[in-house]
Amino acid sequence: NKRVVLRNYVVGFPKESDMKIVEGRVKLKVPEGFDKVLVKNLYLSCDPIMRVLMIKMDFIDEYHHYTPDAPLTGYGVSKVLESGHPDYKKGDLVWGITKWEEYSFISPSQICFKIEHTDVPLSYYTGILGMPGMTAYAGFFEIGSPKKGENVFVSAASGAVGQLVGQFAKLTGCYVVGSAGSKEKVDLLKNKLGFDEAFNYKEEPDLDAALKRYFPEGIDIYFENVGGKTLDAVLPNMRLHSRIPVCGMISQYNLAEPEGVTNLAHLIFKRIKMEGFIVNDFYHSYSKFLEFVLPHIREGKVVYVEDIVEGLENGPTALVGLFSGRNVGKQVVVVARE
Ligand code: NDP
Repeated sequence: NKRVVLRNYVVGFPKESDMKIVEGRVKLKVPEGFDKVLVKNLYLSCDPIMRVLMIKMDFIDEYHHYTPDAPLTGYGVSKVLESGHPDYKKGDLVWGITKWEEYSFISPSQICFKIEHTDVPLSYYTGILGMPGMTAYAGFFEIGSPKKGENVFVSAASGAVGQLVGQFAKLTGCYVVGSAGSKEKVDLLKNKLGFDEAFNYKEEPDLDAALKRYFPEGIDIYFENVGGKTLDAVLPNMRLHSRIPVCGMISQYNLAEPEGVTNLAHLIFKRIKMEGFIVNDFYHSYSKFLEFVLPHIREGKVVYVEDIVEGLENGPTALVGLFSGRNVGKQVVVVARE
């Protein structure tokens, strides 16, 4: 059983050498009286939160922090080989929390959903039909409360979550602009993902001026994925009674000291609602989300860009690539295709 384990707690930017591949034995049998499920992992999801779990910390209870020499945990798509749990049987496909290894015992009491629709790529359950999809849906519609005609700005816009927020904004009848870190990503946003405008934030010496150019009347919803300098530039450009769903702050995850945000007083004058959220609190809406998104996928009205690497041994490179923007779209690792 090949696995990816953490070598040691991570300081600064994560490196491939912070993880290692080890081979171990696994008994492909569910022990008597054990209510877990033995799965073969097919697709693993690379998620920015995994970096946050690579340090010793105690303020997030929802997640299992990594410990050295143990396999990473994360979202994945898996096939049930054997089940000690009454709700699961051999051959079922599931998505949810698993481990970075070929075979795992998973606990259905953790996040675990049975996959019912297989006319779409299975890997989508690490992205558009899985955790990032739910994140975009809950963050944009529930926290962002969008209205037709509003102006929406999305950072890390071509990524797993951002590309969906932009498309959901267009479906709602909003004007949407995305920022991303390369020309290739900007072209993707404008030509494939239907954003009205997009820009490369790395080539904008003055982010405030760029935002004023794209939003002369200001921003109604800023979907926050990156934090730091981007947030600081956005705040003065927000409109009265605008909203900021705070999904993530990837620019801060590797810093020893978070960057100061100086423009927070705009929250007061503009009556801005800035609200953090965690997708785990919204999984009760998962079936409603599927009803919404599946027809759009089937009709080609919502598309999804994935960046797929083959082989568990290439997982560490793919994971650390999130922090240099190497991934174009949702970063997926294929462990096995069936
Ligand atoms: P992505 O697929 O967007 O991958 C990460 C991207 O972030 C990179 O490709 C890169 O794109 C960008 N990035 C990396 N470093 C920086 C930086 N220093 N400054 C600006 N951009 C940077 O990831 P996801 O869509 O999976 O996640 C997006 C955000 O949503 C993250 O902050 C994540 O933590 C958060 N999240 C929160 C959840 C919740 O429940 N609240 C659930 C899921 C995700 P580029 O080339 O454009 O710079």
